[in-house]
Amino acid sequence: MKYDIIIGLEIHAELNTKSKMFCSCLNKSDNLKPNINVCPVCLAHPGTLPVPNKSAIEKTILLALALNCQINQETKFDRKNYFYPDLPKGYQISQYDKPFGFDGYLEIGDEKIEINRIHLEEDTGKIFHDKNGQKTLIDFNRAGNPLLEMVTKPTIKSALQAKVFAQNFQKILRYLNISNADMEKGEMRCEANVSLQEKDCWYHKNGEIIAKNKNKLNSKVEVKNINSFKALEKAINFEIKRQAELLDKKTEIIAETRGWQESSEETVYQRKKETAADYRYFKEPDIPLFKIEKEEILNIKNQLVELPINKKKRLIRQYGIKSDSAEILVNDKLLADFFEKTVSELGAWIKAEGDKYIRQEKKLAQTTANWINGELLKHLKANKKSAKDIKITAENMAELISLVWREKINSNTAQKLLKIMYENGGDPSDIMADLGLEQIDNSQELEKVIKRIIEENKKQLKEYKAGKLTVLKYFIGQVMAATRGKANPRVVKELLEEILKSN
Ligand code: ZN
Ligand code: MN
Repeated sequence: MKYDIIIGLEIHAELNTKSKMFCSCLNKSDNLKPNINVCPVCLAHPGTLPVPNKSAIEKTILLALALNCQINQETKFDRKNYFYPDLPKGYQISQYDKPFGFDGYLEIGDEKIEINRIHLEEDTGKIFHDKNGQKTLIDFNRAGNPLLEMVTKPTIKSALQAKVFAQNFQKILRYLNISNADMEKGEMRCEANVSLQEKDCWYHKNGEIIAKNKNKLNSKVEVKNINSFKALEKAINFEIKRQAELLDKKTEIIAETRGWQESSEETVYQRKKETAADYRYFKEPDIPLFKIEKEEILNIKNQLVELPINKKKRLIRQYGIKSDSAEILVNDKLLADFFEKTVSELGAWIKAEGDKYIRQEKKLAQTTANWINGELLKHLKANKKSAKDIKITAENMAELISLVWREKINSNTAQKLLKIMYENGGDPSDIMADLGLEQIDNSQELEKVIKRIIEENKKQLKEYKAGKLTVLKYFIGQVMAATRGKANPRVVKELLEEILKSN
């Protein structure tokens, strides 16, 4: 690439407060009859006055603190003026020059992505065009819902990095329990600003790109209509390629807003890009300026939880599990919690067994991570569920793992048990007894089966005797089948080798 790639992200997220941003209507707009949660304030009837939602402000400041932002202690709301039918007031109450948070960063791997600002505003209604284009319907249930906006500085260098940033940002919103942040539902919406510049002829200041030595800068393009992480990465990559091709042909890039079109996998022209001046920002006269005391900020800071990146580092350090395993676990705070609880319960199970296992704590923790990230996650994904839907208690999960660990059951049986536990909960020993799944490791019983199987497979026995040792696997398979998977495979292997030798 002969150009510097410069990407900035703007992410909007719906806050999960009880009521709307400036009135007491419920903050609930999904799967509802249209225009149910509305009132004169959010419908902008003349003479009504907005009252800011304290909880929304606290959630915004909490995020700002989590992302290492400075907090504006003297702040205000502003009017952003534009006309669109889904905006009843004819302006959006937003924040212009005094956002709640500014100058923060989010660590991704070894890099810090700088954050320009985090502010609070209100959402718009939703527009529906009927199929034949004759009518347009508007639902104001969403109008006036608290909406958080985060803007990065132009310090993202690739589509992949933008995607990873957005994924981490989503995780943090969920960890802080301030937004559900589902992109498909529009609870989190990403827009990307993309530009290409000649190498090393620019720098950035206050979120803006500035030319070094009076170079002429290329315009940036804003990409909208992005509703998945995959789309975010694809849209940015498409835009980089499109702009590079134009620049190679010495064609000027136009400052425009383009929309990502999923069907054709391209960005298409929507409109010329508006600038701040177009919005005629001015202070919202109906809401007084306000101060946030240091003490209030400290109170909010106390609600900070361990963030995904720190949790990942701690899981690796504390339990000695692999980085990949920790990464999967911290994707969902509840899954990581379930892992930690299970390991802690396992400690009790294992200690009861005696010191033989005590030195193997790391191995046990890794085994636990493998069962959770493997089999359990597989069931969750297949059923489109998440960790909050797990019916298995940590105690029962620990017991299941300890049963495998102590070779009371083989992993085949454990998988069967886990499936039943996933569906109905329950104690693995009880389920095992009910279904007669206990492992057979009684040598005499197994010997009988093995001898019978060798008797029935003379041809394979000959091959084995002739030195084809891989036939052993065949015999193991036969024994496992004959015992309906309940035999202890280790014991089977040992017995088989012994009996085959003597045959
Ligand atoms: Zn209302
Ligand atoms: Mn906005």
